[in-house]
Amino acid sequence: MSIQLFGMPVSRGVAIGRAVLVASSRVDVAHYFVPPERIGAEIERLRQARDTVAGEFDALKRDLPGDAPPELPALLDVHLMLLHDEALIGATRQWIVERHYNAEWALSAQLEVLARQFDEMEDEYLRERKADLEQVVERLLDALAREPGEPAPPLHPPGLRDFGGEDPLVLVASDVAPADMLQFKHSVFTGFITDVGGRTSHTAIVARSMDIPAVIGAREASRLIRSDDWVVIDADAGVVIVDPSPIMLEEYRFRQRQSELERARLDRLRHTPSVTLDGETVELLANIERPQDADAALQAGAVGVGLYRSEFLFLNRGSDLPGEDEQFEAYRAAVHAMQGLPVTIRTVDVGADKPLERMTVQELRHEHVLNPALGLRAIRWSLSEPGMFRQQLRAILRASAYGKVRILVPMIAHLSEIRATFDAIARARRQLDDAGKTHAPVEVGAMIEVPAAALRLQPFLQHFDFVSIGTNDLIQYTLAIDRADDAVSNLYDPWHPAVLTLIAAVIEQANAASRGVSVCGEMAGDPNFTELLLAMGLRSFSMQPAQIAAIKQRILRADTRRLKAVLADVLAAENPQEAATALFGRPGSR
Ligand code: PEP
Ligand code: MG
Repeated sequence: MSIQLFGMPVSRGVAIGRAVLVASSRVDVAHYFVPPERIGAEIERLRQARDTVAGEFDALKRDLPGDAPPELPALLDVHLMLLHDEALIGATRQWIVERHYNAEWALSAQLEVLARQFDEMEDEYLRERKADLEQVVERLLDALAREPGEPAPPLHPPGLRDFGGEDPLVLVASDVAPADMLQFKHSVFTGFITDVGGRTSHTAIVARSMDIPAVIGAREASRLIRSDDWVVIDADAGVVIVDPSPIMLEEYRFRQRQSELERARLDRLRHTPSVTLDGETVELLANIERPQDADAALQAGAVGVGLYRSEFLFLNRGSDLPGEDEQFEAYRAAVHAMQGLPVTIRTVDVGADKPLERMTVQELRHEHVLNPALGLRAIRWSLSEPGMFRQQLRAILRASAYGKVRILVPMIAHLSEIRATFDAIARARRQLDDAGKTHAPVEVGAMIEVPAAALRLQPFLQHFDFVSIGTNDLIQYTLAIDRADDAVSNLYDPWHPAVLTLIAAVIEQANAASRGVSVCGEMAGDPNFTELLLAMGLRSFSMQPAQIAAIKQRILRADTRRLKAVLADVLAAENPQEAATALFGRPGSR
């Protein structure tokens, strides 16, 4: 019987596919399809890994010190037994042969199946053997990673999609760290479901940038959905249907086709200039996470990058953080790819739901990090690591010699931070001059995402060349709602009058001071807010490339004079969302 699960929509469209369950700790194993002629070699990789681990267990058992606890040899026997058990190795082989999964993926898929069986066991002793199984699989994965000789195959070799059997696949996980989600860009999955996460959590943002249907915060999804279940993801409504009936499937296949047609229609707007009915030009910029995303930005018709989240270069690197040259290469690659269009590089914004170490939101909770969103993140972190900050600034300034670069500073709120930032930029320039390295003038902007900055904007307008409103954080901090926490996501309300008042005031003051002002939070890419932001005077929007066409369509049908005339009424309304719908009307219906 089919079941329905409800979560939050983070992207558009409908995906229909078979579920692949992945535990959060194993999301980062490589997932790719093995071409038919390499299946034998892949099975051999698995066999070799098993032999390596068996050898390690044997040696461990043989060399146990005399005073080792007596349970230890028995435990190693259990591990050896599991290692040779057909339910693990035989079935893993099966995934490789039948589905063409690579060995790591096949192992984690089989682990999910067996782990469920263990969970359902009555006998407590047997239930606890799940931990042994997990340890054995971890060691096998480790052995596969350590394999000598041949270099690791690429994560998602292009063109191999078709080898993986007939059915499309959707990924189901309890939680996925933002950097791991990034690994899945251009992956084999045609949809995503997670148990936790808020609509503007960074995991959701990355999922959205992949432009494939995703529902997050679907609570029990990873417990209720079983490996290989047929699943429908209705990303427009935030609904997941497990094991749909044939009638439902038919209905959703129809909707899927409709949504693909709609996308194709919107795609045709790509090169249409973004101008309102009354002749106002509106700049549509892209948000990117990696230099290679610049291609998608250009293809979508973006006229520049309004937000390059540089921190993704820093995540999951352990102590091996990128140095100046590596950063410079990445920034230059983005600048180069944008072919002369401006690239706004945000200085590193780690912390909160983007810790440097790989951690999901659930793991962060268990770590008891106190209010990470209020802690040492973004510019606070950079200023606490002055050497690293200058290193990043030097890398950005060097990239400016290759195209139009702008620096954007996240989460800045204090005058002392403004001063320290400009001091750091000046020092970085001097260091480059001393080293004879070229750099060009760059504009420097501030993200307005802390209410304190929005409420006292003048110092920001005095010191910075432009401001960019980070609505994701501005909402979080104005309403005191953790944006990554699905437990309070119902209160994360971009329509709250206090939020709208702050945004309107920032846009108005920046325009009055002739400073550039943009919105780069998720509101910029949400068509429900396009008329409102235009009415407020916004003429620069930065969003995921996939959202550009839909926003452009709203802009082409908007008349800013009409919108402006009713703005005050919308802002004064008890329920601005209702008022906006009534007063702005539906574009195209006028
Ligand atoms: C924001 O806060 O709106 C923003 C664009 O930055 P991030 O989502 O990376 O925090
Ligand atoms: Mg932010």
